[in-house]
Amino acid sequence: MESIKAPEGSMTTICASPINLTPFCAPKSDPREYLRQPFSFETHSCSSNGHVAVVIPRLHSIPSLNKPELTTLLSRLLTEAIKKRGTDAETGAFWLDQFDPEITNCKECEGAGLTHVCPECEGMGELQPWQECHKCAGSGSITLLQMQLLRNNYTHDPGYQIKPSRCQTCFGIGKSPKAETRVIGSSKFSQRYLLLFKTLPNATVYAFGEAPDPALVVFRGGLGILMPLFY
Ligand SMILES: [Zn+2]
Ligand SMILES: [Zn+2]
Repeated sequence: MESIKAPEGSMTTICASPINLTPFCAPKSDPREYLRQPFSFETHSCSSNGHVAVVIPRLHSIPSLNKPELTTLLSRLLTEAIKKRGTDAETGAFWLDQFDPEITNCKECEGAGLTHVCPECEGMGELQPWQECHKCAGSGSITLLQMQLLRNNYTHDPGYQIKPSRCQTCFGIGKSPKAETRVIGSSKFSQRYLLLFKTLPNATVYAFGEAPDPALVVFRGGLGILMPLFY
């Protein structure tokens, strides 16, 4: 496998504060169990939800993942994107410190960044096939405030109610951009993901070619991949 050669000033920089990989993981409801937490391969530690990936120098506390089809793909996407940066294939670059979209409180978590699994449908969003759960309006999760109100009404005590989890809509940020998409170079990206990458230090997004070429994100302490949108 080709090893990833990071651009100057990214992976080689010693990071003052550790990068939090968790917001880039797949949510607990994702059937791909191996994407629900950060993982390590070769000299890297990584997290991904299939739309985004973040790679940092390997941390010994993060266990290895033996899924060559995934880690080879990640290595290939990163290596190809790094090679394209600064060439004619690069169609746009956007420094996320300048990204200042109009934002509102996330509707899903009402700004808390955390939600609860809906105790009525146990996160399924429906009570039986074709019957949407009325408590969560089919989303499978409810706000902390709703949970507080419900807690008093529920006589049984399922353990999963106790701990809230990271909101899947805003990745725990609590804010949502008003506009859904933004064009960088020749590609269109989700503003929610741009806001998520903006939480990384000094991050820049590099867009390449025609969709579906994934974008490269270079930040102080690591690298990321961001998939463009197709609509
Ligand atoms: Zn529900
Ligand atoms: Zn939220």
